[in-house]
Amino acid sequence: MKIWHPYTQHFYSSDLPEIEYARGAYLHTKDSRRILDAISSWWVNIHGHCHPHIVQAIANQAARLEQVIFAGFTHEPAERLALELGKWLPKELQTLFFSDNGSTSVEVALKMALGFFHHRGENRKKVIALEGAYHGDTFGAMAVGARGGFHRPYESHLFEVIRVPCNDPAVLEKVFQKNPDVAALIVEPLVLGAGGMQMYPSEILRKMAQLCRDAGSLFIADEVMTGFGRTGTFLACEQADIVPDLVCLSKGITGGFLPLGVTLARQEIYDGFYSADRNRTFFHGHSYTANPIACAAAVASLEVFKSEESLSRVRRMSDWHSKRLAKLAEHPGISSTRVCGSIAAMDLAVSDSGYLSQIGPELYREFLAEGVLLRPLGNVVYLLPPYCVTENDINEVYDVIEKCISRSL
Ligand code: PMP
Repeated sequence: MKIWHPYTQHFYSSDLPEIEYARGAYLHTKDSRRILDAISSWWVNIHGHCHPHIVQAIANQAARLEQVIFAGFTHEPAERLALELGKWLPKELQTLFFSDNGSTSVEVALKMALGFFHHRGENRKKVIALEGAYHGDTFGAMAVGARGGFHRPYESHLFEVIRVPCNDPAVLEKVFQKNPDVAALIVEPLVLGAGGMQMYPSEILRKMAQLCRDAGSLFIADEVMTGFGRTGTFLACEQADIVPDLVCLSKGITGGFLPLGVTLARQEIYDGFYSADRNRTFFHGHSYTANPIACAAAVASLEVFKSEESLSRVRRMSDWHSKRLAKLAEHPGISSTRVCGSIAAMDLAVSDSGYLSQIGPELYREFLAEGVLLRPLGNVVYLLPPYCVTENDINEVYDVIEKCISRSL
């Protein structure tokens, strides 16, 4: 049997390093190399690998109740997670629906938005999304993601979406004026992740939410990457002082241990499906919905989030990023830099910018050879480390970036 890896062109990749174990910010290979995980293993790991508190919670839960159908049943880890997560969230967002990953949390949000208006008998079917967005790899999530690039072969099968830029709310305003039948606007708040870590100010996020509310459409915040403190607040939306109608969460929810997705909804949306008419049931569910072990990991992760003061760790990391980027910005090979919470990014000055820029895989290999895991998004090099990193770790990453970029550019 051959394993087909995600986002991997096997024509270029053979002999993938085998990770034997991981601790804190470091991965350890079978051939005894140590790799600093500067992208939190695809943005999921927040407290560091194998955090003992989460390890223990998983072991305890696995020995008690590993899985049970979630239609018609509930269990303590799910109930506790709802309770504990609720404490971090605004009072308007106290209904949650479980699924398996980031893409499914987006699918659920879209289906809730479209179903909500359907059940109200309102003709609102259109969806607006941001240019350069990424929301996942399932069909609904691909439809609201940027076209071209990753999803080109499937384009003709994706539903139509109105696209607006994230830097000009006036365009969005016009779109709402012309289209009174918009069901939802979906955004990645503050940072467009896979689209190249593009960042935009909280005032714009606030304006977009306001326009959406005024138009009577639902505002969906995809916080799959930005949630759980990534941008310096528990949700990125807090920085714009807004409460979305629907919020998608995943990635960091279990501290990076197990797959789990959550879609948060306002009460009105839940009420839109609540009826004696069984046709109005929200017909969506996955076999492993609210897996008890994943929920227990998520509860433990929230405990660590509090006890280790993750938000202050993120703010501290932000300062370390800014310090190093101030210097790197002068490098002739770097055209711009930016920081948002624990995330730092820099654009490399190359002629072939974009996700398929040649420099991306070249630098990836060089960084790895230097013991640092960074996966440039084309010509965008970014750091998104777990919150347990030290200033020394961060400095080591920037030293490696500086060294490799100076060799290549
Ligand atoms: N939304 C956003 C903003 C993401 O960054 C991602 C994953 N990178 C997803 C959705 C999809 O999540 P998953 O890979 O868990 O399906």
